[in-house]
Amino acid sequence: MNNGLPILAAQGESVEATLAASNRDDPPSAWSQSLKAAIRSGHRLLSLLSLPHELYCPESEADFPVLVPLEYVRRMQPGSPDDPLLLQVLAGRQEQLQLTQGALDPVGDGASEVIPGLLQKYSHRALLITTGACAVHCRYCFRRHFPYHEAPTGPAGWQPALEAIRADRSLEEVILSGGDPLSVRDSSLDILTKSLDAIPHVKRIRVHTRFPVMIPERICDSLLHWVSHLRSAVFFVLHFNHAAEIDDSVRQAMRRLRSAGATLLNQAVLLRGINDSLTSQLELCKSLIDMQVLPYYLHQLDPVQGGMHFGVSDTKGLQILAGLKRELPGYGVPKLVREIASRPHKVDIC
Ligand SMILES: *Cc1c(COP(=O)(O)O)cnc(C)c1O
Ligand code: SF4
Repeated sequence: MNNGLPILAAQGESVEATLAASNRDDPPSAWSQSLKAAIRSGHRLLSLLSLPHELYCPESEADFPVLVPLEYVRRMQPGSPDDPLLLQVLAGRQEQLQLTQGALDPVGDGASEVIPGLLQKYSHRALLITTGACAVHCRYCFRRHFPYHEAPTGPAGWQPALEAIRADRSLEEVILSGGDPLSVRDSSLDILTKSLDAIPHVKRIRVHTRFPVMIPERICDSLLHWVSHLRSAVFFVLHFNHAAEIDDSVRQAMRRLRSAGATLLNQAVLLRGINDSLTSQLELCKSLIDMQVLPYYLHQLDPVQGGMHFGVSDTKGLQILAGLKRELPGYGVPKLVREIASRPHKVDIC
């Protein structure tokens, strides 16, 4: 996916102008055009936000390329180096400081691979690495070193996984993950979900995605079509980390997903300097439940190489959680969890 597509905006141009330029020729799928127009350089990201170029680090960018859609950049505060959205995507110098700490595969994905691209860690649920591509590169991502190129993708590539799911009657739920499954075009997702739906023991299909947070236009008519035509119960697990990520276009996307019959949940990651305060988490949870997205998990950072500086202590996490419980209805409080390889479920922090 990240194949050096032409960058449409000149340096110093406003985000609005760049977005307008990228949408001008009325493409067949607006979201794929948005992805093509996404920012793929820290230098350019900082220019658009009128920030000094010293804030980004070429070595970090070489470790894990920068990718951020203009629709997301538009929600950042120009001139603010501590913007909570910017810090999630900027390849900073801090990534280079703790390289001896952290693991390449912090949650034991490799060990839970049933066949290439199909992971099973927990009973009754299997996770399909649908694609390696994402709408954004999150600097704290626990799969930033995952050997995605080894995961088969596309309708032909998914066949062995479908066979394995068909053969294992204990599987009740299939999680489409990645990468981001919504990087795949709807005609292929339609084929994939129909094939899963045709397996009698599959009762639930779950889509783990950050795409609608980044490019809300991804919730287009062709996506709603396959979502609303499945026998299985459909869950979308979104990935919002901060209330400033939510604007009207995002709210509309969530409404559309709900109208197709999907249950909406959110998983966030607790990130130092980004959302590690009660105020920030409270604002996030309230914004989520106001659009009928239930906070599901608040994850402690997976100790991934290059992402260690985002870590928050369990003590602080628990303080925030206690505050959330005081202020929110029960359904508005996420579970604070950590993923530990070889445990039979995500582990509650208490
Ligand atoms: C997190 C995860 C799941 C889903 O776990 P839930 O607790 O059901 O949300 C399933 N498979 C793998 C490999 C996972 O990492
Ligand atoms: S969207 Fe998800 S998989 Fe992709 S980089 Fe971000 S956290 Fe990782």
